[in-house]
Amino acid sequence: MAHTGSYSLMVHGGAGALDNVKDHQTAVRYLESIRRILEHGREVLELGGSALQAVETCASLLEDDPVFNAGCGSVLNEHGKVEMDAAIMDGRDLSAGAVAAVDNIANPIQLARYVMTESEHVMLIAEGAMRFADHCGMERATEDYFYTPDRVEQLRKARLRHKIMLDHDDTEADSEDQKYGTIGAIARDGLGNLAAATSTGGIVNKRMGRVGDSPIIGAGVFADNETCAVSATGYGEDFMRTVIAKTISDLVYMKDMDATAATAAGIEYLTRKVGGRGGVIVIDRDGNCASGFTTKKMIHGWIEHGGETVVRF
Ligand code: ASP
Repeated sequence: MAHTGSYSLMVHGGAGALDNVKDHQTAVRYLESIRRILEHGREVLELGGSALQAVETCASLLEDDPVFNAGCGSVLNEHGKVEMDAAIMDGRDLSAGAVAAVDNIANPIQLARYVMTESEHVMLIAEGAMRFADHCGMERATEDYFYTPDRVEQLRKARLRHKIMLDHDDTEADSEDQKYGTIGAIARDGLGNLAAATSTGGIVNKRMGRVGDSPIIGAGVFADNETCAVSATGYGEDFMRTVIAKTISDLVYMKDMDATAATAAGIEYLTRKVGGRGGVIVIDRDGNCASGFTTKKMIHGWIEHGGETVVRF
């Protein structure tokens, strides 16, 4: 049901096994961060800020928290380097901005927003994106801003296993290193506008130049005022092949589903077609919130129709 004038907001901090969250202190740390960031987003929306402003604010704050795999907490690729992807989308007119394989930038989501508003393009990558960041006057972050001891250790373990892995991967008993996650934020403001943002360091030990779903419009992120806003987290290759965010939007558009039904149908499709690993958060055009995941857990939280703040694994 439409709640005219009310706002809704959801954020996620990645999907996976999160076995390390057996530890109470770690769980509290994640949930406190998600709750704090939702409260910031609430303030933006209550002060009349747009859905776009809310998702950019929340995504930037998530990028600034080193426990998540985005911004300063980004995981490392096969060469021990940070390569980040991010995208933002405005459901009012389907305008979108994305960046891929960028480094030395504290807030890739803000660069994606510049691509959307200050360029005639939707996506810029690698050096071209970094030159555009300079053009927009964005400061470069120093290397040590990203290289946390946890990330270096996580890469060392992934290399030993000769594998790539989700930040919160479900595999292997050794999960101490799997404690961070890709981030996303979606919102519906009081005017009924939808927006979505997703930002990530990708997957651990990924090939240099690998781009995941997060910056791909329709895969890791999508927003359309007529349907819903979606942000995904998990194995990007699964989401790209199923175009999962747009698939969920199409279910709302063509089958008149609400957020809960479209999320369930989208997750069923993801699982059946490719055995997809990960999850999504969804807010539909009426402000209803839903989440679904195929992994053991997904760190996320929401404020539905301006109500209480809920945080979950
Ligand atoms: N979806 C991201 C990627 O594949 C990773 C994640 O969500 O943890 O790059």
